[in-house]
Amino acid sequence: MSNGIKMTGGCMCGAVRYETTGTSFGVNHCHCHSCRKHNGAVVVTLAGFAADQVTFSGDDRKIYESSPGVGRAFCGNCGTPLTWEGDGGELGPIFEFHISTFDNPDDLVPTAHAFEPERIPWFDVADNLPRYQGFVDDSTPLRHGPVSEGLPSG
Ligand SMILES: [Zn+2]
Ligand SMILES: [Zn+2]
Repeated sequence: MSNGIKMTGGCMCGAVRYETTGTSFGVNHCHCHSCRKHNGAVVVTLAGFAADQVTFSGDDRKIYESSPGVGRAFCGNCGTPLTWEGDGGELGPIFEFHISTFDNPDDLVPTAHAFEPERIPWFDVADNLPRYQGFVDDSTPLRHGPVSEGLPSG
């Protein structure tokens, strides 16, 4: 957070824009049902920032409260899913941006997988990153790397 790196992003139509300052506290894949549902995706990747690192511009984002205190934001015009937002514990309020809403997501490299047990069974990713039971935290990962059995093959 101490450096001045700025990154920008926004929705597909450009109505909602945002800028982040400093480094992300975490870039992770999330396999949980809620993230997948919100995005219509098999897995999502999120980059988290404390609220004081984030500035929105343009149209106000729409927020759907998926559970008490958890907002799932999207563009009211084009529908692009933008964030998971809520209480980040000692970080205070946080925004976790869906990685491909950044203008240059290549710069945000994931380091772990969250909610591995909720992964859709026929899809896995060929990285060696740790897979966690729930949130990425200090717990012992379930394993590193993808499953090999159980996935379809041509
Ligand atoms: Zn939009
Ligand atoms: Zn999730």
